[in-house]
Amino acid sequence: MRSVVARFSSSSPSIGRHSSIPRLLSRFLSLHRLAPMAAPSEESLRKALADKQAAVDSRGNAVRALKAAKASKPEIDAAIEALNSLKLEKSSIEQQLQAIVRGGDGSSLSREEFRQAVVNTLERRLFYIPSFKIYRGVAGLYDYGPPGCAVKANVLSFWRQHFVLEENMLEVDCPCVTPEIVLKASGHVDKFTDLMVKDEKTGTCYRADHLLKDFCNEKLQKDLTLSAEKAAEFKHVLATLDDLSADELGAKIKEYGIVAPDTKNPLSDPYPFNLMFQTSIGPSGLLRGFMRPETAQGIFVNFKDLYYYNGNRLPFAAAQIGQAFRNEISPRQGLLRVREFTLAEIEHFVDPEDKSHPKFQEVADLEFLMFPREQQMSGQSATKMCLGEAVSKGTVNNETLGYFIGRVYLFLTHLGIDKERLRFRQHLANEMAHYAADCWDAEIECSYGWIECVGIADRSAYDLRAHTEKSGVALVAAEKFTQPREVEKLVITPNKKELGQAFSRSQKNVVEALEAMTEEEAMKMKAALESKGADEFLVCTLGETVTIKASMVKISKEKKKEHQRVFTPSVIEPSFGIGRIIYCLYEHSFYRRGKNKEEQLNVFRFPPLVAPIKCTVFPLIQKPEYEAVAQRISKLLTAAGVSHIIDMSGNTIGKRYARTDELGVPFAITADSESDVTIRERDSKDQVRISVDEVALVVKGLTDGQRTWADIWAAYPHHSSASADDE
Ligand code: AMP
Repeated sequence: MRSVVARFSSSSPSIGRHSSIPRLLSRFLSLHRLAPMAAPSEESLRKALADKQAAVDSRGNAVRALKAAKASKPEIDAAIEALNSLKLEKSSIEQQLQAIVRGGDGSSLSREEFRQAVVNTLERRLFYIPSFKIYRGVAGLYDYGPPGCAVKANVLSFWRQHFVLEENMLEVDCPCVTPEIVLKASGHVDKFTDLMVKDEKTGTCYRADHLLKDFCNEKLQKDLTLSAEKAAEFKHVLATLDDLSADELGAKIKEYGIVAPDTKNPLSDPYPFNLMFQTSIGPSGLLRGFMRPETAQGIFVNFKDLYYYNGNRLPFAAAQIGQAFRNEISPRQGLLRVREFTLAEIEHFVDPEDKSHPKFQEVADLEFLMFPREQQMSGQSATKMCLGEAVSKGTVNNETLGYFIGRVYLFLTHLGIDKERLRFRQHLANEMAHYAADCWDAEIECSYGWIECVGIADRSAYDLRAHTEKSGVALVAAEKFTQPREVEKLVITPNKKELGQAFSRSQKNVVEALEAMTEEEAMKMKAALESKGADEFLVCTLGETVTIKASMVKISKEKKKEHQRVFTPSVIEPSFGIGRIIYCLYEHSFYRRGKNKEEQLNVFRFPPLVAPIKCTVFPLIQKPEYEAVAQRISKLLTAAGVSHIIDMSGNTIGKRYARTDELGVPFAITADSESDVTIRERDSKDQVRISVDEVALVVKGLTDGQRTWADIWAAYPHHSSASADDE
């Protein structure tokens, strides 16, 4: 579930205080001047960063050791100077890393250039279109065009296969229009807000925390004269951004002199803005409703029926794919922050006393980048960890949460997300809702930085309890005992008649308050009633203290035989932002090839699973025999259920390859004889010869994942292309 804070993290370079600013400044500048000319590869920068981090850590320990040993001031100052110098070098590498993005041909583009190239290709080939474009569009709303729809359908189909099918989840499909009471119970009506400020002259709205965050980041990254105290202060503001109240945010905005970014006009005080789109249900307008901001609530309110459907057994998971609506204050970052998007959510219901997972061993050996909260707090980077160890050491709260983290990792990497640009970041204490046991975000690095794409949270029993309370329907599970168990139970029996005489109209409140006492409160009252004959008792719903006499309530502990344990299940929720995953996938799949900048061709290296179209078919030249073969293969592909396009245009073969590479089509079949044809693989551009009768099933095997290109390359004769166009 969303916290009111944007989860886009940015690694701000740490620039420490230094006694010799001019020298460091020149060093800093020289490092930056060198960067574009030397154009180091991303790999070498990542390695350099890891080495530098290790050097910073060890130098930091040395400083601490000197201080502990009460070394002389000049000695400590020299060590601090060396440490700060290392930190500066580390921050320079971080900035270089942020500024480059790997091209498929190994070349480095600036982040903006790379993003522009991807976005241009996506828009030109109709992967997506700004909605209502002919009317100048609306920020934060996008249409998916034909290839975009196909990619999305493939991602969702794999999601169903990987999660719903694999785990026998119960899929539901609930309405987007939701009555107010549901979202009141879940807390969205009161708390699903962001703090907003307005340009006092133009009325343009901004997210207050975004403005403060941008200001602090910019200061930390660009202001080389920043003192250590100020740097520490900005870092503290960034770390506690989520905790700031409207007043505190407003005070900071005033203190730092932050103005409207576009006009430099003064800003209003921050005030909460609810992100839900409000509507009314039915013609009377009396039933207030909202467009759902997440799909999860539809599952929670159906818990009782789903539990029954599952044979009253736990654990089980329900899943839902659907649209979610959030009236973002100032959508930015293209497809990443939009006002309507597809969510795929899982609610896994589990006994709070047993969060083990029978299939955890299947993912326990996975190793990937994890970023526990301690590492974030101490300024370290994410490191590769073994999932099994992370759970056994308690870094990840429980096996079920760990199991889903592992499954999410497999899902994303299988789609084609680069595992070096995927990390699991644990929420800091101030990011987590008070009821949550533990939360991890799957963050993917793209040209916008690290982006939260999947939230995986152990939400304890919060949601089911909230709906139980509001609806009066018990959303609970029961564990049946094989043998009845004897338990001691607290029994509170209010004497309603006497309470009625004493409190007349307030009797109901007093009775309810007595019945709601915890065991500790009840035993205290029992002791007071036995020793003094009366007790003072605060009735919260009345807002007053009343005197309870011994005759008004009977409190006892009785031995009872119980046949079952009734409890509210805990919920573990992986929540997938499908649009964000797809956009990151576009960036991770995109590369350019070609001899020089002008002739470069765009390619999406989608795995066959994701590719919008699996295969193209075309005759080598416009010749009736070849065209007939192409038509025949097209029919065979249709019968095998392989999506494809047939291109009979007279364009050169090179042009036709280029057009399909740009859509990420993994295989191309060229008909150049009546008996056999060639299949070309998109990224290697390798070709094999294969018989017309066989080719459709071979492509089906490749796209189903039954066979790899390496299998085909090993099994069939190679074809060397004489075409200079295929470059
Ligand atoms: P949340 O409930 O806020 O944790 O959101 C669940 C997931 O929805 C996040 O991990 C994101 O991937 C996605 N998401 C949240 N807000 C947006 C948005 N405005 N546009 C696109 N995706 C979003």
